[in-house]
Amino acid sequence: MKSIIFIAPPAAGKGTQAKLVTEKYGIPHISTGDLLRAASNGDDELSITISKLLSEGKLVSDDLVLELLKERLEQFDCENGYILDGFPRNLTQAKKYEEILSNINMELGIVIFIDLAREVAQERISGRLSCPKCGAVYNSSIEGSMPIKENICDNCGTTLIHRNDDDITTYGIRYQTYMKDTVPLLDYYQTIHKLYVVDGNKSKDEIFKEITDIIDNNQ
Ligand code: AMP
Repeated sequence: MKSIIFIAPPAAGKGTQAKLVTEKYGIPHISTGDLLRAASNGDDELSITISKLLSEGKLVSDDLVLELLKERLEQFDCENGYILDGFPRNLTQAKKYEEILSNINMELGIVIFIDLAREVAQERISGRLSCPKCGAVYNSSIEGSMPIKENICDNCGTTLIHRNDDDITTYGIRYQTYMKDTVPLLDYYQTIHKLYVVDGNKSKDEIFKEITDIIDNNQ
């Protein structure tokens, strides 16, 4: 199993699909958003800076994200592959990531783009619920994406929250950043024949089926 990068507009279902892939293939789900949310919990200056950027929907510095990611990739559970959700967010991160990979003798693997129009993704944020402990994502407005017990995480029993960057104004900022910084990655990965596109308008199960077909064909 190699590494899998998920690229999608904010709130297009990356986290949901990443969790399903983790369950099926037993590889860890690494969300840089989750790593940063964990790093923003302290009351030191760095935590406060990260927390402010997150709540404004702005990207955190490449160096900091790369440092957190490098630390995470060195853990033993990443040896057989992993899913990257929310990284890379721009070309600098993509290039630096390749340097990290070559240092640890890992291959780039595949890049899966979940394609979804802004209007549809934006509409989903109002129902989106996240687990602050394990990072699981639910959606009270999407059939099949609701927690079994209202407002409680199926995985760990923690009370779910509505992320404070999941509002329309912050979504607009996150989407602009995505268009400007992240979308150019699609051309980059297409050029090096690593890109696979999945239609994000399909149901959760259909999308998952497409993703697993891509993974299985690339083992
Ligand atoms: P996400 O959970 O992927 O929606 O990310 C939430 C927020 O974390 C983003 O709006 C950024 O502020 C920050 N973030 C996540 N991943 C990255 C990254 N790779 N580079 C910079 N900032 C990031």
